Amino acid sequence: MSKYQTYLIFGAPGSGKGTQGRVLGKVPGYYHCACGDVFRALDLRTPLGQQFLEYSSRGELVPDEITVKLWKIRIDQSVESHAFHPDHDFLVLDGIPRNVHQAQMLEDTVRVRKIFHLSCPDRSKLVERLKRRALRDNRFDDANEEVIKHRLDTYEQESRPLLEYYGENMIEHIDATQSPVDVLGRIVDVLTADRRNHFGEEGFSAVT
Ligand code: ADP
Repeated sequence: MSKYQTYLIFGAPGSGKGTQGRVLGKVPGYYHCACGDVFRALDLRTPLGQQFLEYSSRGELVPDEITVKLWKIRIDQSVESHAFHPDHDFLVLDGIPRNVHQAQMLEDTVRVRKIFHLSCPDRSKLVERLKRRALRDNRFDDANEEVIKHRLDTYEQESRPLLEYYGENMIEHIDATQSPVDVLGRIVDVLTADRRNHFGEEGFSAVT
């Protein structure tokens, strides 16, 4: 099996990964998968659903083995159901990999082409966004300030080292405090150029 051609949307909780991912997922040729959504789709009465609830309500990461296994099941299902066509769709991942170990576990499946780092050094802005989201989307893990703080710490300690792991050449740093459409514009510029790289000018118009 050839590896999935993949872009990562990367950033702290509240940096806007999901917003960008959802928009890109509407564009033909791009398939969006958010790891948090994979977990939230679980039946919370099942043992797996209970484990997710336990970790996420503390602001912690779900253990890597469970996460990657579940993610693989979800991706396989989307291939089987023809929602994702790996031979001509790019995969847009948000929320996975979330640490270096997960990145290593995914290496036999995904080929990372670029990382979009939605950067927001101002933590208070992130906290403010997450609190607003808690009210709007009914997200239990966004409602409590202690849990939010713990998630931001987890990001700093466990996720941020991924930037070093992939290296500067792979990363597109984008100011996440801009308006969503400005962030999207930057991402689309890079995707357009990279698509030409991948398919060549001819294939570019032929493959939709
Ligand atoms: P956010 O990026 O705002 O934290 P997500 O929806 O991506 O929100 O994730 C919600 C929760 O789901 C996380 O706090 C974590 O507990 C769990 N989770 C999501 N993705 C992963 C992952 N790749 N590895 C481990 N846990 C994850």
